[in-house]
Amino acid sequence: MAKAAAADQLKLLDLQALDTKLAQLSHRARTANANPDIAEADKGLSQSRRQLVETDTAIEDTQRELTRAENDVEMVVNRIDRDQKRLDSGAGTSKDLTALQSELESLAKRRSDLEDVELEVMERMEALTVRRGSEAAASDSLAQQHDELLRQRDEELAAIETERESVEQQRAETADGIDAGLVGSYDKIRANHNGVGAGALHQRRCGACRMELNPRDLADIAKAAEDDVVRCEECGRILVRTAESGL
Ligand SMILES: [Zn+2]
Repeated sequence: MAKAAAADQLKLLDLQALDTKLAQLSHRARTANANPDIAEADKGLSQSRRQLVETDTAIEDTQRELTRAENDVEMVVNRIDRDQKRLDSGAGTSKDLTALQSELESLAKRRSDLEDVELEVMERMEALTVRRGSEAAASDSLAQQHDELLRQRDEELAAIETERESVEQQRAETADGIDAGLVGSYDKIRANHNGVGAGALHQRRCGACRMELNPRDLADIAKAAEDDVVRCEECGRILVRTAESGL
């Protein structure tokens, strides 16, 4: 059986507490990095930006349509002006004038139709502009929420890192004060046992696996020398005897 001073064995419990703390900090950092809210915000933000691009494209298309509609109206208006001037001048035969009169009537109808088209396009443009405004506002607000989540995550990670450095320091100092061979076997056991290498024997239970030890094993432990390094029969970890062991 391996041997180590009882005081060193006790210090293993401090070392274990620090290693557990380090494992918790790693877990917290992983959780912060994998925050599903950030992934969700990312998704929402890309979606809203794609929507904005779509609306901008629709606005460009509609603007071209509007320009076309305005040009169509302008052409007819120019034609009406020209015909009206000719009619007003009174030049030409009465047949010519009658023809002009009839053309002006159909041009007026054409103008009204084209103006209806222009109006319809303008209304669509106005609706698109309003839509773009609310989409841009929604996108900005999503970007802000997203940035805020990233800021919180970075703040959390920085706090975890600061704490980790301090715990690492304490761990190094604590390990320095313990028999190197004992720390070596503790580290080896810890590596193969979910990060837990030692537990206190507390009221007949192994502090690492929580199993209650049977009376025969307890009797063996009670008989063991103070500097014997005892292992839990259930989980194989180092079992540290304390005043509360119940032996
Ligand atoms: Zn155990």
